[in-house]
Amino acid sequence: MTDYEFIVIGAGAMGSATAYHLAKDKRRVLLLEQFEIGHARGSSHGESRIFRFAYPQPAYARLAMQSKPLWAALETDCDERLLLPTGGMDIADDPSGFDSVHTIAATLAELGAQYEVLDAARFSARFPQFKISPDGIAVYSPDAGVLLADRCVRAAVRVAQRLGAAVHECERVHRILPEGSRVLVETEHGRYRAKGAIVTAGAWVNTLLASLGLALPVTIEKEQVAYFDTRSAAAFKPPHWTIWIHYRAEIAYGFPDLGSGLKAGFHHAGHYLERADDNNGVPDQGDLDRLSQYVRERFPALDPIPRNGLTCLYTNAPDHDFIIDPLPGAPNVWLASPCSGHGFKFAVGIGRALADLAQHGETQMSVAHTRRLAALLEARQ
Ligand SMILES: Cc1cc2nc3c(=O)[nH]c(=O)nc-3n(C[C@H](O)[C@H](O)[C@H](O)COP(=O)(O)OP(=O)(O)OC[C@H]3O[C@@H](n4cnc5c(N)ncnc54)[C@H](O)[C@@H]3O)c2cc1C
Repeated sequence: MTDYEFIVIGAGAMGSATAYHLAKDKRRVLLLEQFEIGHARGSSHGESRIFRFAYPQPAYARLAMQSKPLWAALETDCDERLLLPTGGMDIADDPSGFDSVHTIAATLAELGAQYEVLDAARFSARFPQFKISPDGIAVYSPDAGVLLADRCVRAAVRVAQRLGAAVHECERVHRILPEGSRVLVETEHGRYRAKGAIVTAGAWVNTLLASLGLALPVTIEKEQVAYFDTRSAAAFKPPHWTIWIHYRAEIAYGFPDLGSGLKAGFHHAGHYLERADDNNGVPDQGDLDRLSQYVRERFPALDPIPRNGLTCLYTNAPDHDFIIDPLPGAPNVWLASPCSGHGFKFAVGIGRALADLAQHGETQMSVAHTRRLAALLEARQ
């Protein structure tokens, strides 16, 4: 039996960032991951994730603003580029999207962030590669960018290890046993004790919490993204094209071409899985066909046949907000899940929050709105 101060379960975006901060705080940390670091079965793999301040909800915009310098600190610590500044666009050109985009502009104004509202004519003059309707609007945010996702996870793990964290890959946790002021964690290979544990198990959260008789009201969704050939056109690369979110009945989003083509996807495409292990990794052909149609309509200069697609899991709370809370009856076991398909940009901030909460019970990070596990569990009964 080995003793640690903290054990982090799951080395995706959230767990790797939590272990990084705890190690930076000079804590004895063990990070346990059931697969290899950087695997492609969960939620944090792939080339890129959107970073943006542009949220309708001030709490998320604030958390993104707090996270940006923490990403920069991780870049310094790992001596690698992790966040590419590309700027970002929130676009609406039908009634289902206007409210979101107006609220985003209002939130950015309230928080003193930079932004610019473009009507369709100004948008088209600046970004002719995207076809917007004549009554459309867009909010341009210079603070948005692309997080190099695979690189971020590996960097956080590597720096954590360099600072003394123990990292065990391919070691699945079977049980968490709260023992008063300590917690016992049992894996397929051993037993470890610590004064606190942090559960960042992504879509496997309920499999793990079943050992405590808990089940979160979450759904697991298999999402797909696809890459489209830009034929090396500069118009689709930064700084000429940015990350974008297109608010419409089915929200679309995407990334400029960083070398692998223009990446696009639909948010919440609606393919629900019973269990995370049910993901076969094969993109849904219907989604790829609809994405192809979207690219044909919106990016007329692009080849609309996707070059390749990949899958990834969303773990959704009923209202798509996060849950960052101690477990009922186990105040030294913290949970950070699910992040409902928009958590990556905050990972380094959520990791900071979890490291603070596990050590001191409070944090300056903007996560107060996520403390609601008891209410969610009660509503489920
Ligand atoms: C297609 C797609 C696009 C997205 N786009 C964006 C975006 O543009 N911007 C953004 O901010 N967010 C985005 N997200 C959301 C973001 O990627 C996720 O919120 C984030 O990656 C969740 O990380 P996680 O650490 O909670 O989960 P995961 O990455 O799944 O990590 C959980 C880890 O825990 C491990 N684990 C589970 N159970 C155990 C156990 N019992 N023992 C040991 N290890 C265990 C798993 O193997 C896994 O590695 C996107 C998500 C998807 C799927």
